[in-house]
Amino acid sequence: MGRIRVLPDQVANQIAAGEVVERPASVVKELLENSLDAGATEVRIEIENGGRRLIRIVDDGCGMLRDDALLAFERHATSKLRNVKDLLSISTLGFRGEALPSVASVSRLLLETRSADEATGTRIEIAGGKMLRCEEAALGGGTVITVRDLFYNVPARRKFLRTEPTELAHIASLVTHYSLAHPDKSFRLVSGPNELLSVTPVASMKERVYQVFGSQILDELVEIGVRERDLFLPPPSVPPSQAIAEYRSEPEDPPMRRFRLGGFFSRPQVQKANRNSIYIFVNGRLIRDRLVMHALGSAYHNLIPPSAYPFALLFLECDAEEVDVNVHPSKTEVRFRHGNFVHDFIRDTLRERLMESRPAPSFSPAPMPARSPVAQAGAQLPYSEFSQMVADADAGAESLAAAASPAAPAAMPEFRTRLDFSFPPIEVAPGPAPSGKLSSRRLDMHGEFPADSIPVPESSLSQLSDLRPLGQIHESFIIAAGRDGLWIIDQHVAHERILFEQVLKQRAAGRVETQRLLMPLILTLTPEQQIDYARIADELTASGFETEPFGNRTIAVKSAPAAVAGPDLERILFEILETAEGELRGASLDDLRRNICASIACRAAIKINMRLDFAKMEWLLKALAATDCPMSCPHGRPIAMHYSTREILKAFHRI
Ligand code: ADP
Ligand code: MG
Repeated sequence: MGRIRVLPDQVANQIAAGEVVERPASVVKELLENSLDAGATEVRIEIENGGRRLIRIVDDGCGMLRDDALLAFERHATSKLRNVKDLLSISTLGFRGEALPSVASVSRLLLETRSADEATGTRIEIAGGKMLRCEEAALGGGTVITVRDLFYNVPARRKFLRTEPTELAHIASLVTHYSLAHPDKSFRLVSGPNELLSVTPVASMKERVYQVFGSQILDELVEIGVRERDLFLPPPSVPPSQAIAEYRSEPEDPPMRRFRLGGFFSRPQVQKANRNSIYIFVNGRLIRDRLVMHALGSAYHNLIPPSAYPFALLFLECDAEEVDVNVHPSKTEVRFRHGNFVHDFIRDTLRERLMESRPAPSFSPAPMPARSPVAQAGAQLPYSEFSQMVADADAGAESLAAAASPAAPAAMPEFRTRLDFSFPPIEVAPGPAPSGKLSSRRLDMHGEFPADSIPVPESSLSQLSDLRPLGQIHESFIIAAGRDGLWIIDQHVAHERILFEQVLKQRAAGRVETQRLLMPLILTLTPEQQIDYARIADELTASGFETEPFGNRTIAVKSAPAAVAGPDLERILFEILETAEGELRGASLDDLRRNICASIACRAAIKINMRLDFAKMEWLLKALAATDCPMSCPHGRPIAMHYSTREILKAFHRI
C-alpha cells in the first residue's frame, strides 16, 4: 500500500492556520478585512484578554446568504474571485478563501449573519473546525463573528502568545491603522470595559489623523497630499499581421499606468529606534515591503542617522495589475511589476515634500499644555509604536532640559560625545514651568508685550535668510536673532550641509573641482577593501578622486576634490570604503554617492572650537538658508534650534 495520503480538511485547515493566524491580531486583521470587503461603514471590535478569550467583530456590511454562510467555512471558498485571470486584478482585501476555515479550525467560532436578501439570518457554530450547529435566527443586517478561546486546541501555538498588553497593543495598532486608511467609516475598539478607539466618519485623512493622534502629533508630520506619477509602458510588440488588425481597432489598454502616493510621514527630528512606526498601504492593504522601506530610507538619507527610522503612514494606489498580492498566505507581502519605478516615485516624492516643508526643530521651555484633542487610548497602549511616538514627542520637547541635567545624559548622546568642553553644560532651560494659573496672575508693572508683535510661529527655516548673528558660544554655536525669536546654530554641521549640497550639485553636473597631488598617495587595502574599491572605483573618480590600482592590494591616489585637505585624504578614503563595505554593500549608487559627498563635506567643513568673525557668520547663515535641507546635516544631526518669541514670552510668564 502506498504511503502518501491526502490530508483531511481539518488538518489542512490547521496547517493553513499556521500561516494565516499567527496571533490574535491576525484574526482581527482577517475579520476586519472581510468586513471592509463586505462594504461595512461601521465596524465594532470587542476584545477580552488580549484576544485570547474573545474577539468579536460586528459590522453593517452586506451579510451572507444562508448557503454562502455554510460555504464560507470550506477551504478556498470565496466570493471575491472566479478564475485565474481575476487574480491579476484583485480589488478586495481578501481573495484566498482561507481565513474563515483557518480561524474556525483553531478556535470556537460563532457566525451570525443576515443578508438584506433574506428575511431571516443564519447562526453557525464551529469548534476546532467541527460544525456544531447551523440554524435560522432572527438577526439584524450585517455580520457578527465571535472567536473564543483562540488556539484552545493547539497548545504549541498558545505558548507563543505574548502577554495580554502586547497582544492587545498589536490589535490596537492594527485597528488604528485600518481606521486611518478608511476615514469615511466608523471604527470602535473596546477591550473589556475600556474603549481604546472610537472614530466617526470624517472627510479627510488629515482629520482622521487628528481624531486618532491629537493635534501635537499632526504637527510633527508632513502631509504628502496626493502626488502622482505616470509610468509609460512600451507598446506591446505584436507580430506584423496582428499589428494591422490592431491598428484598425481602438487600442483598449493605453500603455500608461498612474501611481498615486498619499499619507503622512515624520519630520527628520522624529527618530524612532525601529521600523514599527512605518505603515504602508498598497491599494488599501496593509503590507510590509522591503522595496517601499528602502525607498523611504533613501528619502531620509543624509537627513536622519542610518540607525534611526521615521514614522510613516503611506498609501500607494495603483492599477491592480501593477501589484501581485498573491505572494504570501497572510497577504502582507506584495510584488510590484515595476519595482524600480515605484521605488523612485516614493523616494522622490518624500524627498520633495521634506524639502518643501523645511521644518526646524524647536524646543519648548515648559511641558506642553494639555493638547486637544488628546490621542485616543488605542494609540497609547504600552507597546503601540504610536504611543511611543507620543512619548518621544514629549521627550523631544524637553530634551534640552534633559541635556542640561547631568542626571539624564542619554537624551543627547551625540551632542555630548562630539563636544569636549571642559565647562559645565550650557544652561538654557528656564526654571519651573509656568502653570495656567501662574500666567494668569501676570503682573502688569513689567509692561505688556504688545500682542500684535508676537509673530505667528513659523517652523520654516526659510526665515534663516534674515537672521542676524549676535555672536558665538563656546566658539562652536552661532547665536542669532530672527523675525521670530532666537536661534542656535551648530556651525560645523551647518557648514557640512552647505558643502554637502554643493558637492552633490557639482557631482551631478560632472564638474567636481579637483586638485592634483604633488606626490601620489599610496594606500594599502585589505582584501575586502580591495573588492569594495573595485566596486566603487568609477564613483570615486566621478567624485573627484583620481585613483588607480598600484600593485597588489595597493592603490595610488593622484588627485582629490579641491575641498579636501591633504592630511584628511587618507582618512576620508578609508571612511568611504568602510561605508561601502558595511551598511552599503549592495545598496544603490545614489546612496553611495550621497555618502561620498557627505564624507567630503564633513572633512572640509568648519570645525567646532573655531572663532568666526561676523562676516563669516552672516555668510554661513545665508548659505544655510539657501540649502534644500537646512534642518539636518548629512549624517542626520540637527543643525539649528529655534526658540520662538512665543516660547520666550511663555517662559517669562508674559503670555
Ligand atoms: P476571502 O476573504 O479570501 O474571500 P474568507 O475565508 O476570509 O475568504 O471569507 C470567505 C467568504 O465569506 C468571503 O469571500 C465572503 O463572501 C464571506 N464573508 C466573510 N466575512 C464576511 C462579512 N463580514 N460579511 C459578509 N461576507 C463575509
Ligand atoms: Mg477574508
